[in-house]
Amino acid sequence: MESKFKLCAECMSPMTQGFVIDIASKSAYQLMWHEGITDDVDKQGFVKKFENLDRSKIAFVKTYKCSKCGLLKSYAHFEGHEK
Ligand SMILES: [Zn+2]
Repeated sequence: MESKFKLCAECMSPMTQGFVIDIASKSAYQLMWHEGITDDVDKQGFVKKFENLDRSKIAFVKTYKCSKCGLLKSYAHFEGHEK
């Protein structure tokens, strides 16, 4: 269960909510997570057929950063269908 305020597991300082971005072609994307594995990956590590992925298994990655030591901790956030 997520709570609104989080403390760092390393130093117990307050953590700030944010998200990890991925840059491609001068655009910034919020990082996502997909349940399971895929073999449909090209030599550069890109998933070839994004449109074929099961959208119900895709979550946005919500990341918190410790205000003191910089530790990052991430959670999968399923919009509209919490798991
Ligand atoms: Zn910390």
